[in-house]
Amino acid sequence: MTHTALNPNQLAMVMDLNKCLGCQTCTVACKNLWTTGEGQQHMYWNHVETTPGRGYPRDWRAMGGGRSGDNLHPGQLPSCDDSYGHPSRFNHSQVILNEGWKSTFLKPSAPDGSMPTWGPNWDEDQGSGQFPNSYMFYLPRLCNHCEYPACRDACPRAAIEKRASDGIVVVNQDRCNGYRFCAEACPYKKIFFDHLRQVADKCIFCFPRVEQGIAPACARMCPGRLRFVGRRGDSASSIHKLVEVWKVALPLHPEYGTGPNVFYVPPLSPEAFDAQGRPTGQDRIPISELVALFGESVHPALATLRTEREKARQGQASELMDLLIARDWHSNFKLGELH
Ligand code: SF4
Ligand code: SF4
Ligand code: SF4
Repeated sequence: MTHTALNPNQLAMVMDLNKCLGCQTCTVACKNLWTTGEGQQHMYWNHVETTPGRGYPRDWRAMGGGRSGDNLHPGQLPSCDDSYGHPSRFNHSQVILNEGWKSTFLKPSAPDGSMPTWGPNWDEDQGSGQFPNSYMFYLPRLCNHCEYPACRDACPRAAIEKRASDGIVVVNQDRCNGYRFCAEACPYKKIFFDHLRQVADKCIFCFPRVEQGIAPACARMCPGRLRFVGRRGDSASSIHKLVEVWKVALPLHPEYGTGPNVFYVPPLSPEAFDAQGRPTGQDRIPISELVALFGESVHPALATLRTEREKARQGQASELMDLLIARDWHSNFKLGELH
């Protein structure tokens, strides 16, 4: 698949997975801004999942969707019971007010009072592998504002639009009839459903902010400074350099066929140890797992990252490392339109 965007003004995001802290500041920034309403409790337009892991909604990769050219693949609908879990309640007042001076712990409960068995961030930090070679990394996810959105093309009401000005994919809720074909078709399961209002809902790439030249909340608030936002065709933007020039930023699951406009710098591994605890020179994250996430392009991307990191270690100039460490943080965001 080519990564060349059709619209030079397409907005895109790059995230450097080597720097994500898993702090969920991005998740909370988005949640506070856009999804505080009734019916939106289970919605995390941005969330950060531990990888390897079952993800959110649970096992979303097994739910299908996506496309091959013009053909949409069948997909499943995530369910509240199995996929999202029900929004938990917490015994905050018991813990904070400590009534009766009894020692107590913060406990989640489902709306019916039972112990929840799944929810967002449920398998945080669980990871994979055996000690001392256990491994995990954080994978922040939002709608990819795809080049060929399966969600849009599955909607018989033409209720999903890819904006001509910036390529942001939005739901027109006045047209939405609640069929949820979009949620089945999105292979990333980033369409949510508001059961109260009976309409689809999703990340809007913070277009009301972007239109004023302000970066999306999830990117602007990130303390790891690992997010970059810009226009695909703007050769002066960091995202253009990372995606098109250095080719170290890759789409997630390119085989899903929708042409994501969110890209990831893949994680470099810590070294694995042998039974005596000596470094083996091998990567701890199996390369097959990174290939499964980002395709074969992950090989040259990791090679470039290692070469440039070594150059920087030896005191040589590296534009790539300067970009990735956010030496000039404000240049992470370049939102102006091309004319
Ligand atoms: Fe649509 Fe899913 Fe692509 Fe977002 S990630 S544009 S919801 S297909
Ligand atoms: Fe939420 Fe805006 Fe980030 Fe989308 S771009 S996930 S709407 S904060
Ligand atoms: Fe990772 Fe940044 Fe989100 Fe924290 S705010 S979880 S560092 S992407």
